[in-house]
Amino acid sequence: MGGMSCALALARYGHKVTLFERFATPRPLGAGLLLQPTGQAALRELDLLSEIETVSARVDKLSGRDRDGRIILDLAYGRRGKDVYGLGVHRGVLFNALYRKVCSMGIEQVLDADVDDVDPMEGLVSYRQGSAMGPYDLVVVADGAHSRLRERLFGTRSSSLYRWGALWTVIPDPENQCAGALRQVYDAASVMIGLLPVGTGQDGHTPHCALFWSLPVTSEPEWRQAGLKAWSAKLSHYWPEAGDMARKVENLDAVSMAVYRDTRLTRWRNGRAILIGDAAHATSPQLGQGANLALVDGIALAQALEGAPDDLQRALDNFVKARLRLVRWTRIMSRLLTPAFQSSVPGMGAARNLSLRIARRIPAFEQLMLRTLTGEQGF
Ligand SMILES: Cc1cc2nc3c(=O)[nH]c(=O)nc-3n(C[C@H](O)[C@H](O)[C@H](O)COP(=O)(O)OP(=O)(O)OC[C@H]3O[C@@H](n4cnc5c(N)ncnc54)[C@H](O)[C@@H]3O)c2cc1C
Repeated sequence: MGGMSCALALARYGHKVTLFERFATPRPLGAGLLLQPTGQAALRELDLLSEIETVSARVDKLSGRDRDGRIILDLAYGRRGKDVYGLGVHRGVLFNALYRKVCSMGIEQVLDADVDDVDPMEGLVSYRQGSAMGPYDLVVVADGAHSRLRERLFGTRSSSLYRWGALWTVIPDPENQCAGALRQVYDAASVMIGLLPVGTGQDGHTPHCALFWSLPVTSEPEWRQAGLKAWSAKLSHYWPEAGDMARKVENLDAVSMAVYRDTRLTRWRNGRAILIGDAAHATSPQLGQGANLALVDGIALAQALEGAPDDLQRALDNFVKARLRLVRWTRIMSRLLTPAFQSSVPGMGAARNLSLRIARRIPAFEQLMLRTLTGEQGF
């Protein structure tokens, strides 16, 4: 997301761009995404928003309840303004829209190029142990949360895997039962089930819905062994609609495990190299911000270069400064909230429910949560 958004924004300003991708055939990984107003604005800037909007699903609120139906979370985008909403989208739709544009703009691509080194001083990019390309004026490293280049080039202050991840799948929802909201059901902090409408997606006809189920990463083999029937029965126990959705899953291969990482860097830039997207600031997807941040990063970097065309270091500094406020806030909130929704710590779920119930009655706090969700809140 970050790499393609940056390539497109740079190309539009007239830069000559080369995009490196480790896969021979670029393809999306993962299921559904929630595009926040920030990500929507980035897509509008790239002239892609209307195309994506027609095949995605409008999301007006985020609602969470416990298994007895008590409301824990109820965040309506509309309370931030009349035209404020999220968009649930199939990751493939977003990926394909960006990639088609990369191709139509004639951006040079080097595929099947697993980059293993970057010389930040000379601007050289090496892949497949030895093939080097460059020198480039700037190397933008956007190789995602599990970046291999990050540690060597930029120095990582901390980068740890979360012990909990999530199982994801996308399911046809012809009756559009999931429409309108990202809905979640919790039991303590160890059970979290979510249904996110993701629009008609690739086929352009049938509405689809992403189903996710929180799970410790080490429990995945056990889950696979138990099979789909056991899973749908478990889901039905907490949330019958989610159980019905899971019954439509054809085989275990349609469900993938997502593992998250939390990363904090010593620096984002080194000589002629800069990090953007998850490579720079991976967090858990609890707040639904990662793809949005990556999309905006790409455009913000191109704009920063435009703002200081003759001074690369100043442009890069300006970019980092402009992005840090939002990134810091997202990291703090995601570190605070993730264990409250995904952990086996006794009492965590009850503490979360109580504090959120109290907080919902305080308008200023509700607005803070909403600004965090829409990606407006910085630190
Ligand atoms: C379960 C889950 C749910 C999520 N839900 C949301 C959501 O609702 N909303 C949201 O905004 N975000 C969400 N996210 C986060 C979002 O997916 C990421 O933040 C986003 O994809 C980051 O984009 P990126 O461009 O930085 O990295 P990526 O999308 O990971 O892209 C990295 C690219 O670099 C390539 N690459 C990697 N290494 C190399 C190499 N050595 N050489 C060449 N190419 C390489 C990869 O093949 C890939 O194409 C979710 C994440 C997960 C796991």
